[in-house]
Amino acid sequence: MIVILKKGITLEEKDKVASTLKGYGFMVREIVGENETVLGAVGSVHVDPRIIELLPGVSSVVPISKPYKLASRELKKDDTIVTLGRVRIGGNRVCVMAGPCAVESYDQIMTIAEKVREAGAVVLRGGAFKPRTSPYSFQGLGEEGLKYLQAAGKAFDMPVVTEVVSPLDVEMMTSYIDMFQIGARNMQNFELLKAVGKTGMPVLLKRGMSATIEEWLMAAEYLMSSGTDQVVLCERGIRTYERATRNTLDCSAIPVVRKLSHLPVIGDPSHATGIRDMVAPMSLSLIAAGASGIEVEVHNNPEKACSDGPQSLYPQQFEKLMRDIEALCPVLGKTLEKTPRIIPQSIKEPSASVDLSTSENNVVAFQGERGAFSELAARRFFNEDVKVLPCHFFKDAFDAVSSGKASFGVIPVENALGGTVYDPLDLIKVHSELKVVGETQVRVVHNLIGFPGTKLEDIRKVYSHPQAIAQCRQFLERELPWAEAIPFFDTAGAVGFVKESGDHTIAAIAGSPAALFHNMEILRQGIETNPSNYTRFYILEREDNASAFTRGRKKEKASFLFNVSDEPGALMKVLEVLYQRGLNMQKLESRPIPGKPWEYTFYVDALIPDYSQFEETCREIASQSVGFRLLGVYENGLV
Ligand code: PEP
Ligand code: MN
Repeated sequence: MIVILKKGITLEEKDKVASTLKGYGFMVREIVGENETVLGAVGSVHVDPRIIELLPGVSSVVPISKPYKLASRELKKDDTIVTLGRVRIGGNRVCVMAGPCAVESYDQIMTIAEKVREAGAVVLRGGAFKPRTSPYSFQGLGEEGLKYLQAAGKAFDMPVVTEVVSPLDVEMMTSYIDMFQIGARNMQNFELLKAVGKTGMPVLLKRGMSATIEEWLMAAEYLMSSGTDQVVLCERGIRTYERATRNTLDCSAIPVVRKLSHLPVIGDPSHATGIRDMVAPMSLSLIAAGASGIEVEVHNNPEKACSDGPQSLYPQQFEKLMRDIEALCPVLGKTLEKTPRIIPQSIKEPSASVDLSTSENNVVAFQGERGAFSELAARRFFNEDVKVLPCHFFKDAFDAVSSGKASFGVIPVENALGGTVYDPLDLIKVHSELKVVGETQVRVVHNLIGFPGTKLEDIRKVYSHPQAIAQCRQFLERELPWAEAIPFFDTAGAVGFVKESGDHTIAAIAGSPAALFHNMEILRQGIETNPSNYTRFYILEREDNASAFTRGRKKEKASFLFNVSDEPGALMKVLEVLYQRGLNMQKLESRPIPGKPWEYTFYVDALIPDYSQFEETCREIASQSVGFRLLGVYENGLV
């Protein structure tokens, strides 16, 4: 059962509720959500829920209807994020795990690890214990293989995942690996599940080849009830009558599982298809279906592979796949999980960049209310549970970063349809202590949000930011011609306003996080006229802190500003430098200089072809302009 606690419950009251439940023989888990805290009570005992409901501090008790409890979405509404070092799996991230089917030698795993890491994989896979259909096939290198896998993971700064086949190996394996894999053939090996669950470590749970979704979730329940909440599910194809592929990839399992469970679900297109050429299209299908990532087999010499050669990608095929995934992610409103690229000296110093997932003190400032697109951008760029500081005005967000109240600012600078957001450009100019250390983009999907159960025909007024109203004009004219569209200060704030009003005849237009945050319902999804609607954000940080964050990250793009003297061809001289130096300009914007009528500051974003030449380029631009300032050099976030 789910015991929903009152907002003001005291610590003693909560302890009392938990100990009462335990007294009845329940296993109790506390789940702290965005809006409420609940105690999940699972076990085979039966207690009249009214007894629990009467305890002080309890708001209500809801039974869990599914046979799996800890794994069910009923118990926990928010997506679970599984953490492997600095890699995070779940939510809107797409996490790519890659490597050979089996670890075959030290050199082999080192070579492949380097290749997949370079292409963008963040977790290294490789089997050391291979459960093979034939006892005469290669069975893996065992503990020796684990040592090689661990060494490759360390050298290339990637957490490693590998299959466990026996409860007797579990303890030995914990010192070598970051994540256990339970293979399809062992999905219902309950003794193995219990032994692995007891470690509390992350687990990748493959779907058994003949398992129903419910049986698969019950296997997850075994892991969770034994002691781990770090479970990632993996669809890897099921056995059907079809023999054209090794198994039949059940892509539809992805949205089904996402609805039933809060656990991240990824897909394995390699074992699902068994055919190299099918791996890339199925990877993209899995991600489009909502998978939080994929696990793919890659081999530097598949013809000679000891196992699963025909389904292993060549490294070049994997690189191409990663580029396609990167292009697909923003369309789906997802972020490809990345870790800082390795620069040679940082191989010895793998944690060179700032690890926001563990740094308690990092606060990210944004303009807008909770649930705004800027908050979404902040969580995408950093992580879901980063601490955020909502600021009413842009100026407040800049001041928060300057004063140290926040470590970073996530600030919109441009919308693909609406164009430049001007205030931030003007503020960047006066805040010379801040640097642009990164950029990210978010696809802006608008939704009509109101009270649960509201019918469209009852809506009389729709509140939102004027830009959002304009972007949804077609929907409003077609579906709600009688409703009045009323401008509001921001989109997420409009949802809060509707909620507070208690009026069921009004609704708001905003992103889905705003509905979640305010516990309101999405009445219509994706109502924007043009779906190619993206907003681009700068990540700002104080210059005196910026070097730690940017170390190890690619230096692909630069933002700078300058003024020009009032003479013919002054701007052209600067542009000539960009042309000569091969900088590909992505944006050129001009803003009036306050107090100097008809004079302008120019803002440029450009791709840098060769960073080693960039200082010289800056000197040349400075010599052809007035007041040149480099705003920052960072990794291209728009690929
Ligand atoms: C594997 O990933 O190496 C593997 C054996 O997969 P499955 O258990 O899905 O067959
Ligand atoms: Mn394999």
